[in-house]
Amino acid sequence: MTELLPVDEVVARLLGAVSPVTETIETELAEAAGFVLAEDVVSAINVPPAANSAMDGYALLADPQTYVEGEVYTVSDRIPAGYTGKPLKSGTLARIFTGAPLPAGADAVIMQENTEQTEDGVRILQMVVSGENVRPAGQDISAGSLVMATGRRLKPQDLGLLASAGRSRVPVFRPLRVAVMSTGDELVEPGEQLQPGQIFNSNHFTLKGLIRQLGMEVVDLGLVQDSQAATLAALRQGAERADCILSSGGVSVGEEDHVKSAVEKLGKLDLWRIAIKPGKPLAFGDVMGTPFFGLPGNPVSTFVTFMMIARPWLLKTQGVAAPQDSFIWAETDFGISAGGRREYLRVRLTATDDGRNLISLYENQGSGVMSSVSWADGLAELEAGQRISPGNLMKVFLLQPLER
Ligand code: AMP
Ligand code: MG
Repeated sequence: MTELLPVDEVVARLLGAVSPVTETIETELAEAAGFVLAEDVVSAINVPPAANSAMDGYALLADPQTYVEGEVYTVSDRIPAGYTGKPLKSGTLARIFTGAPLPAGADAVIMQENTEQTEDGVRILQMVVSGENVRPAGQDISAGSLVMATGRRLKPQDLGLLASAGRSRVPVFRPLRVAVMSTGDELVEPGEQLQPGQIFNSNHFTLKGLIRQLGMEVVDLGLVQDSQAATLAALRQGAERADCILSSGGVSVGEEDHVKSAVEKLGKLDLWRIAIKPGKPLAFGDVMGTPFFGLPGNPVSTFVTFMMIARPWLLKTQGVAAPQDSFIWAETDFGISAGGRREYLRVRLTATDDGRNLISLYENQGSGVMSSVSWADGLAELEAGQRISPGNLMKVFLLQPLER
């Protein structure tokens, strides 16, 4: 029996061979969430463009010689947001509102709450120092600086930041087209009638959803029968229409597993036995030059191998510079011992009242038990040979980070 390959080695090997997509499309900023930025964005302007007030109040020069606490001063100007005021006359105050540019000759703002209206003007109840309650020009972004680097997968708040620098359109990498096929004579699509021996095709839904969540396009190759001819036809279609092909099932060693031989006919294939549970067998290769992943068929194995092995490859191929794995450390409320493979346990996370992260284990960790994935908040990484007792810390990959 051949050695099992460590997961990290498989991922490193795969990432080493990525050729990222280079084609770009120009998109409206409002439509750009989830796409990957394809150029470095440098700001032409300061944001904010001018020093402005952080408060509703009174602008002045913070000079204790000119302005004295307890004294009353006349108001010589009124500057709402969106307007510019006259240069400030020394010894007077300018009424100013949040977001309005500071007038020339002023360098601070007294908040309204620290003043008092009198018949003759406004009394200063509490003096300020230079810069107080002022947002300087370029405080957020300075002109000429890098706002965002190429390879960033754009979040809504990134769009807000780019908009603040004046961008209305951005170049992004063309979304990858990912072909998905499910193999197995036992599979029927949900909505149809189950015959004896059949099950519903669930992997297809999981994989399509995961691919879309990464901002990529699905090329649906549908259900493929366990025959050489059907598998070859589906693979050829995938190679023509997509940037890569993901299949599920048919990569074990039984004689009903046709994926391996079909891929070998059209290209090349490595069948890897990976030290991962669930999901030991995984195929990688190419079909007429198009990269191919043969994920294992058990639904939990499909999910876990997608997340831990295919996903990093897809993101790098999409041009993402630094895919972020969102993980935390959490305390177990269970004990468990690993076998010879790294395991990804389906766990649920709770925060204790005294501020600790606690994980619980789904009772049935079987590779066919999709309830465990649906139930889970995270995948806890149990190293080969590791023994965990209640209260030990585990690394947990979060399935639903606040942001994707
Ligand atoms: P295989 O790798 O083809 O031997 O499949 C392993 C197990 O996963 C078998 O029990 C299959 O019935 C099941 N399986 C394969 N593909 C799917 C699928 N698309 N949806 C649900 N279960 C599947
Ligand atoms: Mg099968």
